[in-house]
Amino acid sequence: MLTIITHPLVQHKLTRLRNRDAGMKEFRESLVEITTLMAYEIFRELPLAEVMVETPMEACTGRKLSRSTVVVPILRAGLGMVEGITRLIPDASVGHIGLYRDHDSLEPVQYYNRLPENLQEAVVILLDPMLATGGSASRAITRLKESGAGEIKLVCIVGAPEGVGKVEKDHPDVDIYMAALDRGLNDTGYILPGLGDAGDRLFGTT
Ligand code: URA
Repeated sequence: MLTIITHPLVQHKLTRLRNRDAGMKEFRESLVEITTLMAYEIFRELPLAEVMVETPMEACTGRKLSRSTVVVPILRAGLGMVEGITRLIPDASVGHIGLYRDHDSLEPVQYYNRLPENLQEAVVILLDPMLATGGSASRAITRLKESGAGEIKLVCIVGAPEGVGKVEKDHPDVDIYMAALDRGLNDTGYILPGLGDAGDRLFGTT
């Protein structure tokens, strides 16, 4: 299922990310902030377990998250979103999947894979700011499932209908969250209007 997070603060941060005049510092900070804001919506349904807690006054019943969280950025642009989740869930494990898009075929090529062991019982949050053709996200989800992941949530900032369609077709069990569903792709696979090359803007490369 696709969820577009329309919260005004999310949309405000998205506009800062889209702005071509935003420098690396503003882009980095806004990417972390928007991911944190989106996390409130994404984690709304997380299960809780009751625990006893001693306040300075007396004992009472509290609630804590009952499932572990694994965050998996797709390298490299997904790295810019990790802190947005770990700020809220500091003991989340972090795995990494390295994929790049072949410039001619636009097909994903995997060059790195390092995942924690507790994927089966965890809620796995897969991060990639841009859901363009959907090839990398779909490949990463397949890899996560092969490694035992059960519940996977794909979190992007901007997506194209082509990418959403591909992930929904290949992995109908995966929930997708985005701040905006844009018009489409240009002939080199960039999202329009999009925000440009997220990795380049994040890391100051061209
Ligand atoms: N990757 C990006 O960084 N930007 C796009 O528009 C598409 C893929």
